[in-house]
Amino acid sequence: MDVSRRRTLLKVIVLGDSGVGKTSLMNQYVYKKFNQQYKATIGADFITKELRIDDKMVTLQLWDTAGQERFQGLGSAFYRGADCCVLVYDVNILKTFESLNNWREEFLKQADPDDTNTLPFVVIGNKIDKDGGKKRMVSERRAREWCASKGNIPYFETSAKEDYNVDDAFLGVANTALAGEHPQDIYVPGFPETASEVEQRGGCAC
Ligand code: GDP
Ligand code: MG
Repeated sequence: MDVSRRRTLLKVIVLGDSGVGKTSLMNQYVYKKFNQQYKATIGADFITKELRIDDKMVTLQLWDTAGQERFQGLGSAFYRGADCCVLVYDVNILKTFESLNNWREEFLKQADPDDTNTLPFVVIGNKIDKDGGKKRMVSERRAREWCASKGNIPYFETSAKEDYNVDDAFLGVANTALAGEHPQDIYVPGFPETASEVEQRGGCAC
């Protein structure tokens, strides 16, 4: 197989209470868009983002869901084969931080039991822009301590609204997922094109 056409598919699921900004973070990262209006996500769906990490072409498959589905169960298709689980909370609402452990446990319960030792998490504290940080209820230190206590979970603080640290957070997600054992190489015919293929169609490789 042509190595240049290998891509690594990483399945990432994003969990956290309703309203913390899961959909906004994903939209900011993939489409560079922020929507002020709150539209509850219906069901579960994914969007993808292509990125290059060193010499590796990576496809991040980001699975979104609505927080209120928690107790109805999301179905095994949602969790199956996940390479990374992103836990999102709102730094201005304590309850959303306190929920993180439930989300983490939910994931560990739902994911393949054999995988639970190696499945990596990332935590994102979102909405750090809000009220200039004056009404913040969870300090960075407290969040980092919690992450450290759960096996050194990488931690990022973001603003989906201001596009602050969003790229870095998802790059951290990709690296964390790559460090796990699950990523699967996929072969995408025709991508990326070779120089001669580009020449044949008379185009540029941009
Ligand atoms: P989800 O339920 O976790 O998917 O949350 P949404 O992405 O739908 O966001 C819920 C609300 O919070 C929306 O009104 C967003 O516009 C708002 N929001 C999301 N991220 C941020 C942020 O970083 N800063 C601020 N100020 N508002 C945000
Ligand atoms: Mg949503």
